[in-house]
Amino acid sequence: MSRSKPNILVTGTPGVGKTTFCEALAGSTELEHLEVSKMVREKRLYKEWDDELDCSIFDEEMVFDALEPLLEEGGRLVDFHSSAFLDEGLLDLVVVLRADTSTLYDRLERRHYPESKVKQNVEAEIFQTCLDEAREAFEDTDLKIWELPNDTEEHMQEALERVQEFVQSYLPG
Ligand code: ADP
Ligand code: MN
Ligand code: MN
Repeated sequence: MSRSKPNILVTGTPGVGKTTFCEALAGSTELEHLEVSKMVREKRLYKEWDDELDCSIFDEEMVFDALEPLLEEGGRLVDFHSSAFLDEGLLDLVVVLRADTSTLYDRLERRHYPESKVKQNVEAEIFQTCLDEAREAFEDTDLKIWELPNDTEEHMQEALERVQEFVQSYLPG
């Protein structure tokens, strides 16, 4: 199916800067930012609760069903830490943002995450969980996966330029 504007998934461990990046990109392109964790909360796209971390466990099918009609229209920036439940045919590019351990640790502390949640997310980043999830999910496809560092303002500007170029050169089909 062809869409006139591309869909881009921006993924990575909580704290790598997905939302900041997507807001900047939405401001400089015609793409619309979908902050999926917010949709999960507002539309209650979950059936289970994680008591240990005191947060919801999103339901893959419910989130997929909420995103599918929007992605079919095209021009969406999907901001989410998970990718395996998405369909390759609905996406044109996957961006995996990365941050160094100390950078991520500081950002999550500043967010007042409980120590266990900081630790869990920092470990997930060390083990590149989000990157591997995306690589495995789309390994037999032509979908491009860009792993981009996002520790500094300079990193973000570089990443923004690369993705803006992708958007500008996107041809439907
Ligand atoms: P995510 O959506 O992946 O959880 P956020 O966009 O909320 O991440 O960013 C987490 C924190 O890191 C925020 O305080 C944000 O201001 C900061 N941040 C994001 N990107 C950068 C960057 N490139 N350089 C410095 N700080 C950043
Ligand atoms: Mn976010
Ligand atoms: Mn815009």
